[in-house]
Amino acid sequence: MSVLRIAKPVYDAIRAHGEETYPHECCGALLGRGAADGWRIEAAVKAGNTRTDSPKNRYQIAPGELVKIEREARSRGLSIAGFYHSHPDHPAQWSATDFAEAHWLGCSYVITAVAEGSAAVTNSFLLAGTTEEDKRYEQETIEVFATSEAASESLTAPTESKKA
Ligand SMILES: [Zn+2]
Repeated sequence: MSVLRIAKPVYDAIRAHGEETYPHECCGALLGRGAADGWRIEAAVKAGNTRTDSPKNRYQIAPGELVKIEREARSRGLSIAGFYHSHPDHPAQWSATDFAEAHWLGCSYVITAVAEGSAAVTNSFLLAGTTEEDKRYEQETIEVFATSEAASESLTAPTESKKA
């Protein structure tokens, strides 16, 4: 079982983002460094929810936004370690759609349940496997670590998402 280590301000910011966008889903990317037993998350980047058909239970990060996030990760010496989104009034368990839309093998997918506007359980699932055919989600342990960095710097302001 792998372990997802998240800096405390980042963990708090992910959960707060889910409360902010409630009753809609929030989503974003996780930036960090890889270790033998899992990722160490040092920053999160908010993304605009570009799905307009059903923002309540669908999320997607626009390709252009993803390129920007990747550039930012590189400039900070970090990698895209995974993605997060919220489940308004739903358990913090992945759905069939979540699994079908997950393609970053080796990355962690964090889901925060938001119950009646308050962040509840947060879970993380590692997308294991070597190909799209044998990919699978494996639940991992979340370990929150303290950091001396200012909380305000852990979460980047959302980039303006272009609506098609
Ligand atoms: Zn989901």
